[in-house]
Amino acid sequence: MAATIIDGKAVAKDVRNEVAAEVEEFTKVHGFPPGLAVVIVGDDPASRVYVDSKKKMCHTLGIYSEEHALPAATTQDQLLALIKRLNEDPKIHGILVQLPLPDHLDEGQVLEAIDPRKDVDGFHPVNVGKLLVGAECFVPCTPAGVLELIKRTGVEIKGKRAVVVGRSNIVGKPVAILLLAEHATVTVCHSRTRDLPGVCREADILVVAIGKPEMVDASFIKPGAVVIDVGVNEVGTSETGRRKLVGDVKFDSAAEVAGYITPVPGGVGPMTIAMLMRNTLVAARRAVR
Ligand code: NDP
Repeated sequence: MAATIIDGKAVAKDVRNEVAAEVEEFTKVHGFPPGLAVVIVGDDPASRVYVDSKKKMCHTLGIYSEEHALPAATTQDQLLALIKRLNEDPKIHGILVQLPLPDHLDEGQVLEAIDPRKDVDGFHPVNVGKLLVGAECFVPCTPAGVLELIKRTGVEIKGKRAVVVGRSNIVGKPVAILLLAEHATVTVCHSRTRDLPGVCREADILVVAIGKPEMVDASFIKPGAVVIDVGVNEVGTSETGRRKLVGDVKFDSAAEVAGYITPVPGGVGPMTIAMLMRNTLVAARRAVR
């Protein structure tokens, strides 16, 4: 294997340690900790796991957290009333609504109801717009984690060819904007892109966020490229019948050609929650200045 593995767990731990030290300092100076409210509607098991790990991480880092678990039958008005209450609560600096919401709820309206100053997920249109124009905002957590991982390789982004595969609002588009802000020359690919392997092979930095298990192999990769695999796909293994997680990149094949590569699990995944903790701290700092 040629590539250096980017250890997302280790980088996330560094970020968490930095945040914990800064949270301690913040709490000492202001007499209260940063606070995060996590809202979960219904009983989706994956959402429950995410919410529990966010709460646990808050506890570990000294961030105050509150869970608001609402039944699946919650109405739009009830949810909006809760968001309004959290917007006005001075203990709460960040509000996170765990997605996806049950089908009968209007996700866009709910996200827009969050005060942009408390929108630590960075999904409010005000924050999306500010990201686009390069103003102070909350950067969505997974894209922020992707950038952090690229930066910590020490590879210079400025002037490089970057290719982002995937154009979702939560991953692909914000990653592309962040790379552009770092002066990369950015191409965004999607399901209608012609000659995807050929476009990817031009990339010095390749970020893949498509949700297709192991679709990207060595034939997509320029020798020495930085490869960041955002994909999280659960697949069955024929030998044991057990499920396992794989990325969008065929790791063993890609690692023969890449210069740096993230594994799945243990790459981008751990960064997302670390960046959420950082955003909550940042929200608290902005609230007191
Ligand atoms: P979406 O399904 O919202 O978007 C997928 C994107 O990939 C779309 O833009 C789609 O194109 C593109 N795409 C799909 N198939 C192909 C293809 N064959 N060739 C080229 N492009 C293709 O996914 P998300 O952005 O939400 O997530 C992407 C992956 O990242 C998933 O595996 C998800 O689980 C993972 N993820 C991981 C996180 C983490 O913390 N590690 C956080 C968030 C997501 P088009 O627009 O044309 O349909």
